[in-house]
Amino acid sequence: MARFLTPRYALTAFLLLLAAVPLFAGPFTVTIINYIGLAALVALGLVLLTGIGGLTSFGQAAFVGLGAYATAYLTTRHGMSPWGTLIAGMAITTAVSLGLGFITLRLSGHFLPLGTIAWGISLYYLFGNVQGLGGHTGIDGIPPVELFGVKLGDNRAFYYMIWATLLAAIVTTQNMLDSREGRAMRCLRAMTMTEAMGINTLRYRMVLFMIAAQFACVSGWLYAHLQRFVNPTPFSLGPGIEYLFMAVLGGAATVWGAVLGASAVTYLKEVLQDLLPKLIGATGNFEVVVFGLLTIIVLHRARDGVWPILMRVIPQRALARTLEPAEPLPRRDLPEKGSDVLQVIDVTKRFGGLVANNKMNLTVRAGEIFALIGPNGAGKSTLFNCISGVGPATEGEIRFMGQRIEQLGSRAIAKLGMSRSFQHVRLNRDMTVLENAAIGAHLRGHKNFIQSAWRLDREEERRLLWEAAHQLQRCGLGEHLFDTAGSLPLGKQRVVEIARALCSDPVLLLLDEPAAGLRHLEKRALAELLDKLRGEGVAILLVEHDMDFVMGLADRVLVMEFGEHLAEGLPREIQTNPKVLEAYLGSMDE
Ligand code: ADP
Ligand code: MG
Repeated sequence: MARFLTPRYALTAFLLLLAAVPLFAGPFTVTIINYIGLAALVALGLVLLTGIGGLTSFGQAAFVGLGAYATAYLTTRHGMSPWGTLIAGMAITTAVSLGLGFITLRLSGHFLPLGTIAWGISLYYLFGNVQGLGGHTGIDGIPPVELFGVKLGDNRAFYYMIWATLLAAIVTTQNMLDSREGRAMRCLRAMTMTEAMGINTLRYRMVLFMIAAQFACVSGWLYAHLQRFVNPTPFSLGPGIEYLFMAVLGGAATVWGAVLGASAVTYLKEVLQDLLPKLIGATGNFEVVVFGLLTIIVLHRARDGVWPILMRVIPQRALARTLEPAEPLPRRDLPEKGSDVLQVIDVTKRFGGLVANNKMNLTVRAGEIFALIGPNGAGKSTLFNCISGVGPATEGEIRFMGQRIEQLGSRAIAKLGMSRSFQHVRLNRDMTVLENAAIGAHLRGHKNFIQSAWRLDREEERRLLWEAAHQLQRCGLGEHLFDTAGSLPLGKQRVVEIARALCSDPVLLLLDEPAAGLRHLEKRALAELLDKLRGEGVAILLVEHDMDFVMGLADRVLVMEFGEHLAEGLPREIQTNPKVLEAYLGSMDE
């Protein structure tokens, strides 16, 4: 029995059952499953937006309304064909979601959900009040969709239309998530890291927002031609909250969670709407209360929704553990060894009254390892942030490859060939080690999300993953390619960050405490790797506490204390410098 409980069999059984339903089920069941399909399409958009992108929207019902009203209005008042109105509806949705996304996606924290509530309500009132949309009675007489000369006039015929659309959306979404574009989307929550890898996070939030809006719009179009009439009620805030609940309940980060959540909520709603008034002996929308309670329970007990729990029951197919070899990606020309790559000139960084960096100066050359050391709180990480554009300097000048960069953001700096790791590891714990490293190679690929949805990116994808695997192997993580990053010990997670940085083919590598948490042999392997990179002409700027590691490896050392320059020189000069000894004996805790 257990042998047949694999995802592939489960999926086949599900699809067969789905295809057979209209042949034996009664009209009520078919209607319910139609509504489940329609809701799942909207919830799928929310899986992308909320589960993947971390953006909460209560306003999706409004986009469903846009699709529904566009076709209702244009078919009945202007005699357009439903296929024409589908395109028109999607065009309108594109324009509206671009505008709304542009305004709301810049909002942070709880302002974003509030923003979605605001436009959700606005669009709802628009449907009810715009001349020609039929007010609160709506528009009827919407013609059926015709496909290959067949009128899809009844629920059974339309059933296949709805589910074929949904399955196509699921497959393309899954393809997209399993690609360079998808990896960037899945890392959107770690915005600082993602931007530092050269990824335009606002663009990806926008893309997710627009895809979610399109799914909702198509659902609305289908709904209008299923019902053959529309009024504003299904597009208000209440249904908007229900859609979000479906995504959260099902499993906000999994595509099948959308189907599960939509099924559960739609079915439960039918049952409760029937049952509760009888139980209570009064009429009213009591199911809303039950949903409210359920939401709280889910958020407490199953943050990731029910789908992941269900998946634990079904034995998972082992992930593919082999990679197809691919042609290496082209590499950039490194500057001549010994030439200045990075110049930091009188850089000051203030946090309010605290001066974390005070007039710091340093130069790093191609093919050298430059170490920055100093007690905790000396300002080393702050200086890294100034250099990499993560937290721009308050004053001073920074030149990288001859170009002024102190005003540039981390994304622009990454494009110039700088890559970094973080003192506090920033990986997507649920993605594999391989996928995490591949994030670093983002700028070396060019296929967009539409190409990846249709699997037109496979050649490039193979090359990107091959590069990631190669860099991981160099860093000694070849054994762990297919493990989730979160399952590695912290020390190894830091090494994943180094591999990720190397995937960008950097001119300058900034490593913030790369050896922390590593065992002796691992440290030695890391030192050998950095030495090899130096030999290839990469410039390396290193913050590290382990003195043996630094002194045996670095070409030059700069010591910082209290945000200031304390000493600079060759390792052996630093080791015997009385000022340094005093600073370290006085305050160093490692
Ligand atoms: P190091 O990396 O050398 O241990 P940091 O650069 O992390 O030191 O910190 C230098 C000083 O700046 C510390 O006093 C720290 O508390 C302060 N600091 C760092 N980041 C911030 C921030 N975002 N806001 C306010 N103070 C900060
Ligand atoms: Mg630090």
